[in-house]
Amino acid sequence: MEKINALAEEITQLSSGLADKEKVFNEKEAELRKNEGELKTDRDKYHAEHQDAGTKVDPAVLKQYRYIQNKYSDAMALAVNGICSGCNKRIPPQLYIELQKWNELISCTNCHRLLFYQEPAEEVK
Ligand SMILES: [Zn+2]
Repeated sequence: MEKINALAEEITQLSSGLADKEKVFNEKEAELRKNEGELKTDRDKYHAEHQDAGTKVDPAVLKQYRYIQNKYSDAMALAVNGICSGCNKRIPPQLYIELQKWNELISCTNCHRLLFYQEPAEEVK
């Protein structure tokens, strides 16, 4: 009889342990499902934004960009120290000044790549 009681006790403990584990598991599962839902929402959001980006860009700029891209794989070039990094030609000083103001899209007078300005790196002393 005592043996049976001991066994019964053991079973009760095991099943309560199991219930605890099941509870933890269910909680984890719910958490993961929630994360999954959030990730899917994020993914959909980025996807929509990406599709949107194509329509937000000025069509003229996009056309120019695609045109340049047909000629060069890199349609954009860095302008450093007054030089277009795409064709290594000097950018007219007035244009370079305009470029530094960053008000409008400027393309290289030589290769027509869209230029973006980067401040010259400071010399290491
Ligand atoms: Zn150029």
